[in-house]
Order: sequence, then structure tokens, then C-alpha cells
Amino acid sequence: MNHCITLLHQLSEHGKLARTEYLHLLAHRKAIAETAMELAREVRRKYYGTDVYIRGLIEVSNICKNDCTYCGIRKSNQNVNRYRLNAEQILSCCRAGYRLGFRTFVMQGGEDGSFTDEFLCPLLRQIKTEFPDCAITLSLGERSSESYRLLREAGADRYLLRHEACNEALYRKLHPETMLHENRMRCLRDLRELGYQVGAGFMVGAPFQTVEDLADELCFLQDFRPQMVGIGPFLPHHDTPFCDYESGSADLTVFLLALIRLMLPNVLLPSTTALNSVVPDGRIRGLQAGANVVMPNLSPEDTRQLYQLYDNKKSSGLESAEEMQKLKESFAAYGYHIVTARGDFRDCPPKKP
Ligand code: SAH
Repeated sequence: MNHCITLLHQLSEHGKLARTEYLHLLAHRKAIAETAMELAREVRRKYYGTDVYIRGLIEVSNICKNDCTYCGIRKSNQNVNRYRLNAEQILSCCRAGYRLGFRTFVMQGGEDGSFTDEFLCPLLRQIKTEFPDCAITLSLGERSSESYRLLREAGADRYLLRHEACNEALYRKLHPETMLHENRMRCLRDLRELGYQVGAGFMVGAPFQTVEDLADELCFLQDFRPQMVGIGPFLPHHDTPFCDYESGSADLTVFLLALIRLMLPNVLLPSTTALNSVVPDGRIRGLQAGANVVMPNLSPEDTRQLYQLYDNKKSSGLESAEEMQKLKESFAAYGYHIVTARGDFRDCPPKKP
């Protein structure tokens, strides 16, 4: 136990630990979870005060050429009612979001062949022209280096591409043969080289994932040092081969959030929808473990239930200023404050005490 506390302090001071040390922390998780979260809250306070960044999530398409075993919108799921937003619909989501105070728009979707560079680049430019004070985050999966370059030049600032598993054997169990671990890693490297703020991450409690795998994920993150880290519990979807697997644990997820905050003190760390879907107070528990970003849904209401990555996904949408006010109040009750700044990674040296 004392050794664990020393390790937590070491992690916070040096930003890294050995794999065996992560394994040790994971083995004693229950005994040290509270301390880890307190330390993570302290670090978060030092860098971000009580600020919570909001990102408006626009789920642009549920059409996907991939067949990820865990994902509800995988290609071979015949029971999905497929949709794709057009440029005008995406723009109106941004306009509605802007009025509510959002200054980052996240365009996420399946790997939809219609989202060519020819379609996306003019759209990105248009969003940037209309909202020059906003950041654009893309989360559209694997693309060519050239495409990432064009999208960056057209105005994309950030890119979320969870690596999903740094262990190749596990990666293969979660993905079809056509998807190569090597390519995922190539994408992450390209994105970083092109000057995107890059988000990596993984699901907690994915089928076949072991505690050793989790230690490896932490080692990967400490080496790669992404600007954003997205983690959330795995949740089963009834129309996938993983339908009978159990959900990942909320407790383990928040513990990992705390370790990630200690490791990467100024990382942008969302309290994810998946965490909020697995337990009702997930969003606030994430913030209390060191997360500092939430991503309310800005997708049109009629497509929202069609972007079902897993069963019982909460869409936690904000349709009105009134609901934004409610969200603010619910955070304020725990001492957190929504800020509408773009919230770039580089904006965030430690705050003065
Ligand atoms: N096509 C994009 C966006 C994928 S959806 C891409 O490949 O990056 C965003 C994330 O949702 C995925 O990276 C995955 O980690 C998560 N996700 C998908 N299915 C899930 C499930 N069943 N349970 C929990 N998270 C899931």
C-alpha cells in the first residue's frame, strides 16, 4: 500500500512508471483508488483549475466500411438504419452549437466513403470562415497521409483516433483482418507530424483485454504522450459478435483516468459518454477522477438514436440554452465550471496558485 502511494507520486513527478509498477498499481486498485483520484484532482486543479471544456459532438454518419467486432455500426450489421449528414446539416449543427457557447466542433463518424477530401475540405473551410474562433476536431478513422494533410490545411485542428489496443494480438481480436495495427499506428504518427493535436485511447474491459494489456496501454500513452486521451468502458451491442460480453467497469475506468491525469498532467481528458452510459453518475465521476472535457451531442435529434455504437448509449444532448444552463448548474454543484474557450492543448500551462 505504501509502495503504491510512492508509485503514484513518482508517476505524478516523472510522468512515467515501469510496466511492472503499473501492474502493481492495478493489482492494488481498490485500496488506492481514493488516493489516486485525490492526487489526480490536485494535478487537474493545478493545470486547469475547475475548468471543464465542452466540445460539441456531431455524429456525421453511421455508414462504415469497417467491421470492428465491438461496434454497433459495423459494416456487417444489417439492422442499422444508415444515415449521413450533408454539408448543410453539419453546418446547422455548428450554428446551433455556436449559439449555445460551443467553440469546438467534433465531427465523428464511421469510415464513410462519401466523406472524401473533396467533400470535407470545402466544408472545413466554410466552418472556419463562419466560425474563425472555433476549433475543429475530426474523428473519421484511418485515412491516407495525404488526406490528413489536406484536411489539416483546410482547417482541422485536432484528430481523435483511439489506438484501441497497443498489443497487436489483442488489436486483431477486436478488428477484422483487413484492419492493420500497423496502419493505425502510422495514422497516429502522421497526425502528430502534421501538427494536429492528437487523441489516442482505448476501451476499458474490452473482450480479451487483460490487466497486462492495460499496463501496456499505460506504457504506450506515456511514450506517445498524446494531447488528448479518450477512454471509456466497453459496452456490448446486441447485433455484434461481442453481444454476450460484459460491460467494462466504471470503477476501473475512473481509476485509469486518474492514472492518466497523473502521467500527462495537462492532457485533455474527456469524461466519456460510454462512462456516463454505464453508470448514471459517470460524467461527474470522470471529472472527479481528473477528466476535464465533456462532449455533449449536437447531432440532429432524429439521427442521434441511429449512431448506436453500443446498447443504451446516452446521447446527453443539449438542445437549448436552458439545458446548457442545467448542465452548468449540475457541474457547479460539484465545484466545476464550464468554459467556452476553444481549450487548445497548448493554452494550458499550470495555472498560478
Ligand atoms: N470511425 C472512427 C470513430 C469510431 S467511434 C474511428 O475509427 O476512430 C469512436 C470510439 O467509440 C471508438 O474509437 C471506440 O473506442 C468506441 N466504441 C465503439 N464501439 C464501442 C462499444 N461497443 N463500447 C464502447 N466504446 C465503443
